[in-house]
Amino acid sequence: MVAKWMFSRLFLAVSLLGGHAVGPAQAASGDSIGVAMPTKSSQRWIDDGNNIVRLLKEKGYKPDLQYADDDIPTQLAQIENMLTKGVKILVIASIDGTTLSDVLAKASERGVKVIAYDRLIRGTPNVDYYATFDNYKVGVQQATSIVDALGLKDGKGPFTIELFGGSPDDNNAYFFYDGALSVLKPYLDAKKLVVRSGQFGMDKVSTLRWDPATAQARMDNLLSAYYGNAHLDAVLSPYDGISTAILSSVKSVGYGSGAVPLPVVSGQDAELQSVKSIIAGEQTATIFKDTRDLAKVTVAMIDALEAGRKPEVNDSKTYDNGKKIVPSFLLTPVIVTKANWKSALVDTGYYTLEQLK
Ligand code: BGC
Repeated sequence: MVAKWMFSRLFLAVSLLGGHAVGPAQAASGDSIGVAMPTKSSQRWIDDGNNIVRLLKEKGYKPDLQYADDDIPTQLAQIENMLTKGVKILVIASIDGTTLSDVLAKASERGVKVIAYDRLIRGTPNVDYYATFDNYKVGVQQATSIVDALGLKDGKGPFTIELFGGSPDDNNAYFFYDGALSVLKPYLDAKKLVVRSGQFGMDKVSTLRWDPATAQARMDNLLSAYYGNAHLDAVLSPYDGISTAILSSVKSVGYGSGAVPLPVVSGQDAELQSVKSIIAGEQTATIFKDTRDLAKVTVAMIDALEAGRKPEVNDSKTYDNGKKIVPSFLLTPVIVTKANWKSALVDTGYYTLEQLK
């Protein structure tokens, strides 16, 4: 009798471990999860990759993490390879959000679910969920950091400003730009902000692959063409790597020394170098997007999919990828300046004080 009872318990335990329609227990089945990241050239993506891998391992999954060196064919080959190796779910931070349709069609044929990570994958029905931050809000916050630092709300101005956008093949870049322009527009209309170059719109201000060197060359050109006898007061920068490049460019023509103050410069990602620059009074602000939370949301989506449940989302209208509206979970970004870096980044455990010295 006892033996029979023990046998049936054992049988239940084995079938729970091996089964596919049960709760979190089946994570221990060790399913392989493909994680395709764009580049190691910026710390945020390294952190993103590490955070996801750590959480996946904790839950018993087998992560396959690959970085593509910002090269589209490399990313395609990596995803193909993940499919060949039998991943159950793909997590993809795309390089060019429009180039993955064929490989994702294959994924769908094999029943592999796809989570777009941070960047929307466009032009395909075969993307199931999107985990990201409120990208429009990021842009709003970037512009707000400029408006606040210049004192525009107190009626100060007019000031000169130049605008930089992110990569034109990254859907996020348009959300950042549009969000920022929504805040800057009234001041531009009232001529409280003046873009001396006249360069507006993503077709004119974007920065392919978010490349700092490309941005630096454009800043050099803008300074020599339009600011020979005028001070540049502010720069809308979409990403910390670009902010650093902009600051080098302006310093190389004498800003930040003697009587020529640096322009107000926005940013994004709370990269170590930029946070140090903020503390030193150079870069004005960055936008902190806690990649630990993004990893958590993504792994919660994976757990739900593995358990046959619907992942939790909080936005089902914003992210139309041209083929469908992708159900999304949007996290909230935070403005970081000299006034709050400690509470935002150190008290939350994102950086140690030691790292910021
Ligand atoms: C991300 C930003 C990042 C940028 C450059 C965007 O898609 O959302 O956080 O700064 O790519 O890597």
